[in-house]
Amino acid sequence: MIRMQAVNKHFGPLHVLKDIELEVPRGQVVIVLGPSGSGKSTLCRSINRLETIDSGVIEVDGKALPAEGKALARLRADVGMVFQQFNLFAHKSIVDNVLLAPVKVRKVSQSEARKTAMELLERVGIANQADKYPAQLSGGQQQRAAIARALAMRPKVMLFDEPTSALDPEMVQEVLDVMTSLAKEGMTMLVVTHEMGFARRAADRVIFMSDGEIVEDSTPDEFFTAPKSGRAKDFLAKIL
Ligand code: ATP
Ligand code: MG
Repeated sequence: MIRMQAVNKHFGPLHVLKDIELEVPRGQVVIVLGPSGSGKSTLCRSINRLETIDSGVIEVDGKALPAEGKALARLRADVGMVFQQFNLFAHKSIVDNVLLAPVKVRKVSQSEARKTAMELLERVGIANQADKYPAQLSGGQQQRAAIARALAMRPKVMLFDEPTSALDPEMVQEVLDVMTSLAKEGMTMLVVTHEMGFARRAADRVIFMSDGEIVEDSTPDEFFTAPKSGRAKDFLAKIL
């Protein structure tokens, strides 16, 4: 579903993605771990071309992402992304946030988009907040709205970049629960997170990045109980 082949990316002199090879099959949940600055966000962002790459190939559902234009917008619609900061439109209601892109990009009718939006808000447990504005919701509710908004485009893949890092601790679980149910329903997911409990439970696979490289690629069990590299051992010693 996602395929990265010999992907390289520099920021000036800094080599942040080094010959990345990664295949995520349909329905797989891959957790990306690694120290700060190791390239996790850049990896995520390059998949939907929020970052350009210097060389290599990235495909989603068998199609290479074009660099720009309408074709990019269409392909990007297949890739839902949820960030640490919820990035909801502040001056639009929650339901309008969710239905905006389907109406604009997918050309779905307003009434159909609203119906779908309400179903999605139901699914993430905030249908009763539909007519409020983002600032009137808790962080956890806003993040669930952001997930509903991404799902409204019927993406083939969901990318999450530290979706719970900006939340108060008591709101982390409600967002992880939504992600867990998505995973169980078979969504293909790439998740950057520091939530190790979630990583252990939800992941089919753990990727450990260090210095722009994928240093380990294993099952959660293998990674957490018997990491192979010194760098992963150091990382785990700090966080567990
Ligand atoms: P964190 O855990 O702190 O979020 P990360 O693993 O997501 O870190 P990235 O954000 O991908 O790391 O950054 C990888 C490297 O690229 C870092 O050294 C960072 O400083 C650098 N970097 C990221 N974005 C830019 C940019 N727009 N311009 C220049 N350097 C950048
Ligand atoms: Mg990051």
